[in-house]
Amino acid sequence: MKLLEDKIITDGKIGEGDVLKVDGFLNHCMDVAFLSKLGEEFYRLYKDCGVTKILTIEASGIGIACLTAQYFNVPMVFAKKTKTVNIFSDVYTSRVESFTHKRVYDIIVSKEYLRPEDRVLIIDDFLAQGSALQGLISLVNDAGAEVVGAGIVIEKAFQPGGDLIRKGMGVRVESLARIAHMSCKDGITFVD
Ligand code: 5GP
Repeated sequence: MKLLEDKIITDGKIGEGDVLKVDGFLNHCMDVAFLSKLGEEFYRLYKDCGVTKILTIEASGIGIACLTAQYFNVPMVFAKKTKTVNIFSDVYTSRVESFTHKRVYDIIVSKEYLRPEDRVLIIDDFLAQGSALQGLISLVNDAGAEVVGAGIVIEKAFQPGGDLIRKGMGVRVESLARIAHMSCKDGITFVD
């Protein structure tokens, strides 16, 4: 999506360890009108898939997932990160390794909010190693529901997550911007 690629070039900052910072419009200060256009694009891509729920992971997926859910007119559910999975009952749980924080989280969703009849579109801000998506897919599978696909704002296509989820798990992944390469020296280039 050209609009998004231009915004990443203008506002994105390349940090240590292959982390792209887009705090100016996505991860800290949210440009709601702009992000709403991304939500509309996810709707265009998945509108014929019978989506009944949008699923994301806290915290950074919540904003874009809400804006997307408005177009589908379905609820948005977010998986919560927790260190005390044992105290919860009636939840689906899974494990996620955080790329940016370099730690492992248990994630949970109440069984009340993911039902076997659900057709779930997963939304997240970034795709890197694929751990967050794998964890979310596992929650949906445990619920006996169906993953119709994943909508990602920024995929770092030079990292293995995209292949893992598309080829390894057979899940449709649509990323609105796919970064082929990024470095402080050469800047950011996108997959054609
Ligand atoms: P993965 O699980 O695919 O390795 O990473 C996805 C999660 O890590 C996303 O939910 C996102 O919050 C975070 N993340 C991964 N790479 C980046 C990045 O380059 N920049 C930012 N801001 N977040 C990232």
